[in-house]
Amino acid sequence: MNFTETDEQQALRAAVAELGREYGYAYYTRQARQGGRLTELWQEAGKLGFLGVNLPAEYGGGGAGLYELAIVLEELATAGCGLLMMVVSPAICGTIIARYGTQEQQRTWLPLLASGAAILAFGITEPDAGDDAAAGEAANMAKYAAAEASVRTVDQAIQALGGSSMTQEFGLAAMLANVRTTRIAPVSREMILNFVAQHSLGLPKSY
Ligand SMILES: Cc1cc2nc3c(=O)[nH]c(=O)nc-3n(C[C@H](O)[C@H](O)[C@H](O)COP(=O)(O)OP(=O)(O)OC[C@H]3O[C@@H](n4cnc5c(N)ncnc54)[C@H](O)[C@@H]3O)c2cc1C
Repeated sequence: MNFTETDEQQALRAAVAELGREYGYAYYTRQARQGGRLTELWQEAGKLGFLGVNLPAEYGGGGAGLYELAIVLEELATAGCGLLMMVVSPAICGTIIARYGTQEQQRTWLPLLASGAAILAFGITEPDAGDDAAAGEAANMAKYAAAEASVRTVDQAIQALGGSSMTQEFGLAAMLANVRTTRIAPVSREMILNFVAQHSLGLPKSY
């Protein structure tokens, strides 16, 4: 796999980082404390084409891929104002509709997802989940590693800064709950390990 980003990808990073700086962690925490949402940031990111960067150009998207969408999410998260619903709306729902939706579904939903005007969630049942063990293994390991990295990073930052890390000004205590959630949702760490044990290592189902 090539980890060198193209000029376009680097330019996208820089543009998203600039937007992230305009909002930042102060905006994120202010909205959270007031019970608000990140609507202004969501709408501006949509207007700038960042939310739909992975969606087909013929439906108002950027015509790029999930890597580019990950760049958007990474840069906003780095700025302290990650948009979690990007994972659900343009990434999961958008990709599935673009790949498997009817033309009518694509015409109806993709422009709205690309502009950010609609936010989609989904309800699924997975009676045959686990068939694609190779993809499942990679996805589960990536999810596991990302959760562990985020939990340990915040914990280490708190340890390094000591008592002051718990103040509102440092903002780290508020991150604790966020990162800790990644070990539970959308799938618990234990269920990830169960999947890998059963499907990759061929061990008997343990639960
Ligand atoms: C912020 C947040 C947002 C969420 N959003 C959504 C959403 O949009 N849609 C949705 O459907 N769900 C959502 N969830 C639910 C989420 O998918 C579940 O919390 C998650 O799958 C864990 O299931 P659970 O909470 O029932 O915990 P449980 O399954 O009860 O697990 C509790 C603990 O028990 C242990 N455990 C459980 N099973 C096993 C096992 N087989 N082997 C070993 N140990 C085990 C683990 O330590 C685990 O952490 C959300 C959860 C959170 C926290």
